[in-house]
Formats: sequence, C-alpha cells, structure tokens
Amino acid sequence: MQNRAPQMQDWPLPKVRGKYVHDVALADLCWFRVGGTADVVFMPADAQDLSHFLSELPQEVPLHILAAGSNTLVRDGGVRGVVIRLGAAFGQVEPASETQLWAGAASLDVKLARAAADSSLSGLEFYRGIPGAIGGAIAMNAGAYGGETSDVLVEVEGVDRAGQLQVFSPADLQLSYRHNGHTDFIVYTRARFAATPGDKKTILAAMDEISAKREETQPIKSRTGGSTFKNPGGANPQGPKAWKLIDAAGARGLRVGDAQMSELHCNFMINHGRASAADLETLGEQVRTLVAKTSGETLHWEIKRIGDRGAGA
Ligand SMILES: Cc1cc2nc3c(=O)[nH]c(=O)nc-3n(C[C@H](O)[C@H](O)[C@H](O)COP(=O)(O)OP(=O)(O)OC[C@H]3O[C@@H](n4cnc5c(N)ncnc54)[C@H](O)[C@@H]3O)c2cc1C
Repeated sequence: MQNRAPQMQDWPLPKVRGKYVHDVALADLCWFRVGGTADVVFMPADAQDLSHFLSELPQEVPLHILAAGSNTLVRDGGVRGVVIRLGAAFGQVEPASETQLWAGAASLDVKLARAAADSSLSGLEFYRGIPGAIGGAIAMNAGAYGGETSDVLVEVEGVDRAGQLQVFSPADLQLSYRHNGHTDFIVYTRARFAATPGDKKTILAAMDEISAKREETQPIKSRTGGSTFKNPGGANPQGPKAWKLIDAAGARGLRVGDAQMSELHCNFMINHGRASAADLETLGEQVRTLVAKTSGETLHWEIKRIGDRGAGA
C-alpha cells in the first residue's frame, strides 16, 4: 500500500443531480472506436449541477472533457479520474435575437447549421461538414469550407475548475487555426453565434453541396478522427498542407496493423476494425518521421490524445 498512486475510490464524489457511470468503455464514445475505460463518466443535470460538482470535487482528481469524440484518440490504458460528458440538457439550439442563436455545448454542429437555415440565417453553413459538438468546436476552433468558429462566435459561457460560471468573448479565448489559447480548465456550456439574413434555398443548397463534397473527399463512414495533423501553414491557403506533405512522403495508405492513413484523404487515419490506440498513435508518429525526413516540416497532431498508454505499449 505504500507509495500507491491515488485511485478513484480514494476520492469522494460530490452528491449531484446528474449521473455517474463507473468503468465506462470510452471506445463506445469516440469515432475511432478504440481506447480503454474511464474510471468515471459524469453527466451533469444542468450548468448549476456541473458548477456544484466542480466546486466540491477534490482538486487532485484528474478531469477530462469529451463531447462527440470526433477529434479524440483515447489510449489503450484508459483515463484515470473523471470524464465530463454533457448530455441532452446542454443540447438545445434556440434564437438569441433576429440574427443570433444560442447553442448548447452538447448540440451537434449540424444542428446549429440546420437551425440557422430554418431561420433563413447564413454564415453557419460550414458546420454542416463538421461531425462534432459545439463544445468541441469552441475548444478546437473548428472550421471547414472557408468558415471557422472564431468568425461566428459572439460569446461563450462555461464553468471553471472552482465551479464558477464564466463568460468569455472570442478574444478571451485567443482562437486561431484549430487552436484555443485559453489554457485554464473550463467546461463550455453554451455559446451565442452571429449570422446574417439570407435566402433559405441558397443556404440549404450550400449545405447540400458541403455534404456532397465531404462524402466525395473524406472517409466519413469510417472509424476516423478527421484531420490527424494541423496544416503547418495554418489557415494560410498558400502555406504547406499536411496532406500534401504526407503524400509526398509516400505515406498515403501506410499501415500499422489495422490502422491506416486513408487512401481517400491521406491526412485521415482509419481504424479498419481491430486497430488499437497504440497502432494508430504509432502510425501517426511514423508519418511525422517520414514527413520530417522528406520535407523538413514538423507535423503537429490536431487529434487530441488522452489517457494512459497501457501495458502493451
Ligand atoms: C469525418 C470527420 C471529419 C472532420 N472534419 C473536420 C473539419 O472539416 N473541420 C474541423 O475543424 N474538424 C473536423 N473534424 C474534427 C472534429 O469533428 C472537430 O475537431 C470537432 O470540433 C470536435 O468536436 P467533438 O465534439 O467531437 O470534440 P471531442 O473530440 O469530444 O473533443 C475535442 C476537444 O474538445 C474538448 N471539449 C469538448 N467539449 C468541450 C466543452 N464542452 N468544454 C471544453 N472543452 C471541450 C475536449 O476536451 C477535447 O480536447 C472531423 C472529424 C471527423 C471524424
């Protein structure tokens, strides 16, 4: 018992109105369908419940946040501590004014795009192409097809590690290409988005076009995590693109076990069914090495990797 690392049962969990689930297989909650278990997943009943939980939880308990799991690779050894997952209570999209909408952090991006289209509001069509939830979009400054979260975000509400409700402007979050510069722990709970009046037919046509383009160019029916690496040139359209560097390094289709760089979009990793998180991470690191050798460019992971490596790694 001496020098044993603290474990979940050593920490009392606050009494909440929401739900705790123990030993949760995180593979079921992430697009890659890999990874170990979480000690505890907490689903708060509402923002007040989340606030109470955070204010009462001992500071040393490790915390993670998971939304739709479309940008997260959970390692095989799983996640110690508590994973916060917002549920239906945070899933509403509703009007804030004639041209603005509130979206709960657990609502899927596509729900916001559809709600805007229903109100003949333009500017949020790009969310049709991103399979995550609003909390993940704010954390990643998600974007596609010429739009990104920082272009349309007006304000964000969240709860900090001490359980205090906080309000942020986009400037507070220092959003840049696939990056949120706000380093303190915060659970985003809802956000307000701005749009402009438009023609409903045109908006719906743009969304259909985005959807068709995605089906053509991305392996969206596979177990994937979207773009594995950030473009080294950031948002600059003239800058180096990760997929081009990967292609030039000969890594399109590269395989480690059942993990493969997609033939269709070579910056996407795919789990063909039996890949472990270690296979996927090893594949990614091999690609980084090949790209560094052939082009001198350093690729940085866009996918968030969480948890312990596990015994086999
Ligand atoms: C097929 C496919 C296509 C994709 N295409 C695109 C694309 O075109 N553009 C793009 O930008 N991305 C794309 N992605 C990646 C992914 O969808 C986005 O990054 C998305 O915004 C992540 O959202 P999520 O809800 O799945 O986040 P998760 O993967 O669950 O989490 C991602 C990060 O956000 C944090 N987070 C989640 N919710 C909260 C919250 N409430 N408060 C604080 N932090 C939070 C998590 O802790 C984690 O660090 C794609 C992914 C796939 C699988």
